[in-house]
Order: sequence, then structure tokens, then C-alpha cells
Amino acid sequence: MVAMEEMLHLGKAPLVGVVLAVVAVAVATVYFLSTKKPKACLDPENWKSFKLVKRTQLSHNVASFRFALPTPTSVLGLPIGQHISCQGKDAEGQEVIKPYTPTTLDSDVGYFELVIKMYPVGRMSHHFRELQEGEYMAVKGPKGRFKYQPNQVRAFGMLAGGSGITPMFQVTRAILENTNDHTKIYLIYGNVTYEDILLKDELDSLEKNYPDRFKVYHVLNQPPEGWTGGVGFVSKEMIQAHCPAPASDIQILRCGPPPMNKAMASHLDALGYTKEMQFQF
Ligand SMILES: Cc1cc2nc3c(=O)[nH]c(=O)nc-3n(C[C@H](O)[C@H](O)[C@H](O)COP(=O)(O)OP(=O)(O)OC[C@H]3O[C@@H](n4cnc5c(N)ncnc54)[C@H](O)[C@@H]3O)c2cc1C
Repeated sequence: MVAMEEMLHLGKAPLVGVVLAVVAVAVATVYFLSTKKPKACLDPENWKSFKLVKRTQLSHNVASFRFALPTPTSVLGLPIGQHISCQGKDAEGQEVIKPYTPTTLDSDVGYFELVIKMYPVGRMSHHFRELQEGEYMAVKGPKGRFKYQPNQVRAFGMLAGGSGITPMFQVTRAILENTNDHTKIYLIYGNVTYEDILLKDELDSLEKNYPDRFKVYHVLNQPPEGWTGGVGFVSKEMIQAHCPAPASDIQILRCGPPPMNKAMASHLDALGYTKEMQFQF
């Protein structure tokens, strides 16, 4: 107290010094906190369990699953275009492990989300069908060979089938939401029926918000009446019409059921896309 009085009687200079020091410490703390990267929750070597907090049925065989991260500011820590392994039990109680790509990014803090298509006799599909809010699922990662830097290519062509849309959606969101990334994206998305199209609203709104950078061409095996998109399987002609032509600064990504991937690889080879211009998730 005496010291403080003495300091005050010495004039304003020391007080100003103290105030400046306090302000400097506060600014440094705020800067440190704002630049400190949140700790990633994934571990490539060990299974980590995450609680299912919300399950939303999107159609008769598709649901989205929101899992909570340990704190509301945690991030999953998944590089763009990579996926996670999920562990579950099939109908016989046997362990099953399958890859899934979250539809969320690390800019979505505190949770991650999966969109899952459940097949009637699918082993991991059984696990997801049974999984209830409040239960935990074991996850490991990141996994995958895809590496992405903003503007690494001029344009991506994307060939997706069914649930193969999830890695495309994740990469597309990351590119479009980055104002420093100018990459253009041309997606061809194949499904059996209109009802099978996953993330339709999300894709529509990305197309509407980024008309110069993102185009989607939907292809259906069994189109409804009045359908104006593609019909049948994704063909060579569709790729020629809707994807960037072969060039050293473009890449075509594909993800679909194995027969579709095989057919797309042979179309791309025939159209002159080199191995370096193709990537399969
Ligand atoms: C990198 C990567 C990311 C993936 N991300 C997702 C995702 O986000 N969401 C998602 O739902 N799936 C995703 N998948 C597919 C997923 O890994 C499983 O293959 C799928 O859930 C089926 O597993 P299952 O054990 O239920 O079926 P299985 O027991 O393997 O198969 C059962 C039946 O389903 C059929 N089937 C299996 N997979 C497919 C398919 N893809 N298309 C058509 N028929 C099929 C089989 O022919 C079989 O008749 C991804 C796959 C990869 C490689």
C-alpha cells in the first residue's frame, strides 16, 4: 500500500508504465490463444471412442451421425480428403472395421459427422443401424494417400457413385470455403434413383453459392419423369462433356462401388488421362 502511494506520488509516468505492461501482456495472451492450434483428437495408432450425440434419418437407408469431440472447441484433426477407420460389430457379433469420410471439416469445432448408407446385409451397416444416441464408437486415423494444398491444380473433375460422394463433398467444401483457393470443380454424381442422391441440398446450395467454381451433373439409372440430367451409367461422353480435358494441371478423382471405379478408370484411360491425372479414394 505504501509502495503504491509512493508510486502515485511520483507522478503519472510509472502508472502509465504499469498500464502499458498489463495491456501488452493481455494482447500477447489473446494472440497466443488465437494462434494456438486446437489439439487434434485422432490418433493413427490407437482407437479413440466418440459419443454419438445426434442421429438423423435422411432417407429409408441413409442417416447422418454426429459424434461429440472431447470439448466444444476440439477439432477432429483430419487432413482434407483423408478418412477414418470405424470399428463395430456385425450381425454375428464379429468385429468389423471400415473406412468412412466425415462430411465435416476442422472448421466445424466440437463434433464430426458421418453420412452413412446402410445396406441390408452390410456388416458395418448393421452396426450403424443399431447404434443409438449416447453410445460410443471407436475410431482411428487419419488414413489415406490423398494430399491437398490449395491451388495445387487448376481444376478437379470428380466421378462419384452413391456413398462415394462423401470424400468429394469434403474436398469440395474445403476448396470452396477457402477464399484463397481458386480451384474449379466439376462433379459427375451417379445414383440409381433420385431418392438415392446423398447430400442433395448441400450440393445444390454449394452450386448456388459458387456458380463460377462448382458444377454438378447428376446421372440416374432410373430417372423420374421430366428428369433433365444424365441417364444410365456414367459414360465416356459424359466425362468428355462435363469434366476438364486431360492436362498437366488438372486431376480426376473417383470414388464409387468397385464396378463403377473399374469402369471409370477404363473410360479415363481411353480418353487420354494419364495415371498422374487420376486418383481413386
Ligand atoms: C475412402 C472411403 C470412404 C468411404 N466413406 C463412406 C461414407 O462416408 N459413407 C458411407 O456410407 N460409406 C462410405 N464408404 C463405404 C464404406 O467403407 C463401406 O464399404 C460401406 O459402408 C459398406 O460396408 P458394409 O460393411 O456395411 O457392407 P459389406 O458387408 O462390405 O457389403 C454388403 C453388401 O453391400 C454392397 N456394397 C458394399 N459397399 C457398397 C458400395 N459402396 N456401393 C454399393 N454397394 C455396396 C456389397 O456389394 C454387398 O452386397 C467409404 C469407402 C471408402 C473406401
